[in-house]
Parts: sequence; C-alpha cells; structure tokens
Amino acid sequence: MTGHIAFIGLGNMGGPMAANLVAAGHRVVGFDLVPAALEAASARGVEVAGTGAAAAAGADVVITMLPSGRHLLEAYEGASAAAEVPPAPGGGEPVSAPAASGLLAAAQAGTLFLDCSTISVQDARAAADLARTAGHRPVDAPVSGGVVGAEAGTLTFMVGAEDAEARAVWPLLEVMGKNLVHCGGSGAGQAAKVCNNMILGASMIAVSEAFVLGERLGLTHQALFDVAAHSSGQCWALTTNCPVPGPVPASPANRDYEPGFMGALMAKDLGLAMDAIASTGTGARIGPLAAQIYRAFAEEGGAHTDFSAIINTIREASDA
Ligand code: NAD
Repeated sequence: MTGHIAFIGLGNMGGPMAANLVAAGHRVVGFDLVPAALEAASARGVEVAGTGAAAAAGADVVITMLPSGRHLLEAYEGASAAAEVPPAPGGGEPVSAPAASGLLAAAQAGTLFLDCSTISVQDARAAADLARTAGHRPVDAPVSGGVVGAEAGTLTFMVGAEDAEARAVWPLLEVMGKNLVHCGGSGAGQAAKVCNNMILGASMIAVSEAFVLGERLGLTHQALFDVAAHSSGQCWALTTNCPVPGPVPASPANRDYEPGFMGALMAKDLGLAMDAIASTGTGARIGPLAAQIYRAFAEEGGAHTDFSAIINTIREASDA
C-alpha cells in the first residue's frame, strides 16, 4: 500500500481502531466532527484533517465508523449532494448539486471504501452501489467485540464484499480484529451482524428471565449458572456477560452494569433487525418482542447501562 488510510469517525470504536492501524505502521489521516475525538486520535498518532474529503483525497482506503446509515450516506455523498439546485437564471434543467464535500467525490478512482459502522442491510447495499458508481471498491465490515475488542485489536469482522475487495482489506482487518468472516457480497456483513445481535438480544432476555425465575424458586445464582453453563442453556449471554454478579467476575453485573454493550446500541441493532424482518417478510416472533423490550429499556433509563441490566426490569415486573 502506497498512500494513506483515511479514517472517518474517531469515536469510542473508531478511535482505538485507527490507533491500532497507526501502531501497525500505517499512515492514518482522520476526521471527526467532534474536536475532542480529533485531539484524542492525534495523541495516538493519527494525522488530523480539516474535513472528511481532505482526509479521503489521495487515500488508498477510506474507513468509516459512524453512528448510522444516514451518517454514512451523507458522508459518502456530501451533505448537499441530495439537494437539487434551482435552474440557472435563463432556464435549463435543475441539476444535482456537486458532491464536492463527499468522500466518494474526493477519493481517487479505485479507492477501497471500508465501512465498519453498524447500519441496515439496505443502507449498506445503497452505500456499496454509490461507491461502485463513483468508481470505487466497497466493503461492508461491521464488528462485534465492543470498545474492549477495538482497543485490543480483537474485534470480529463480518465482511460483505466481492472476493477481490475482501482480499484487499484483509490485512487491515487482521490489524484491528481477530475473527474475520467473509459472509458474502455487499450487505452480507450487515446481514450477519443483524442476525447475530438478534440472537444476543433474545438470549440475554431468556437468561435474565431464567435467573429471576430461579431466584423465586429458591435457586442460588451459582447453582443455576453451574448447571446451565455446562448444559443446553449455555450461551454467551450466560457464560461471558452473565446478568447477575458472582458467577462471571468480569461481567458488567459485577460493576453495577457499567457497559459493556449499552442498552441504546442493543435497541439500535434490534431496530435494524426489525427493518430486515419487515423487508424480507420473515415470520419471526421472538426477535420483534426482544426489539420492543429493549426499545422500552433504552427509553426508560437503560440507554447508557449495559444491556444485561434488562434483568432488573424483569424483577420490577414480577409480583412482590
Ligand atoms: P460514537 O458515537 O462513539 O462514534 C461515532 C463518531 O462518528 C462520533 O465521534 C461522531 O462525531 C462521528 N461522526 C458522525 N458523523 C460524522 C461525519 N460526517 N464525519 C466525521 N465524523 C462523524 O459511536 P461508536 O460507539 O464508536 O460506534 C460507531 C459504530 O460502531 C456504530 O455504528 C455502532 O453501532 C457500531 N458498534 C459499536 C459498538 C460499541 O460497543 N460501541 C460495538 C459494535 C459496533
């Protein structure tokens, strides 16, 4: 690789991911709308650009780690790209405003556009189409593993791309992650993410309900854990992110549900799963219920606590 890596979105995840690329010897030019994020990235060796477009100019790879599909599409096209400007005085057809501030227009032809944000499958496919139309090479590669995984360079990447593009980004993904899975063409990475997190949301609720039921049946947390962790109830929500303090000392329940994985992000990911369920006509029942439960949880104070604190709402809903 001869040029640099542009990194757009240097927040909780993007900041440490960009820092790991720097530590591996890459030249990383970053941009974020928030000055504090830029300062933190700069302290870790990221060169700071004045705009996203300036970061993307001359890059071999443009990595994005943004909050939502809307943020991504706006960053790709430029804030004014979707707007139509009025006809020039003297007539003529309305024309699209030039996307001068957009990442796609700013990058040299053939640039790899690697989006690691969690967005809908539909937005991921739209972003890939835009990138291809602009002469670039798109990859969607959402992650799992949270801020801890981003810091440690141990993220799981779920990759949606053609073979050649997947091969091209693989060495960078190996710097930022540990478990890399090429899931299929454009959008397949987001599809895998949305399905995985629907399992996670539903299984955390199921594990939490089982612990509350166990409490009411007189079982200790440790006894239920020792049985379920080694039998058919075994799952990540139980054995890694256990929603009660004690059995798994590193789980957020042991530090008053400090995240971890925030309730707001679980609600967001289940919302994306609901979009996918609606667009595919999938006859799911548990997933939508989990989405409803986590939406209420996030709205009623759980947004910034770990998602395993859902167990408290089950206790609150139980008879005194
Ligand atoms: P964050 O809010 O900390 O970071 C997002 C950053 O993007 C912010 O700093 C924001 O200022 C910046 N931004 C927004 N629009 C921008 C633009 N046009 N140009 C430049 N910067 C812009 O969020 P995060 O926790 O880092 O999450 C990023 C993505 O990763 C999300 O899609 C999230 O769902 C996903 N994710 C997060 C986690 C987690 O545990 N935090 C885990 C897996 C996946």
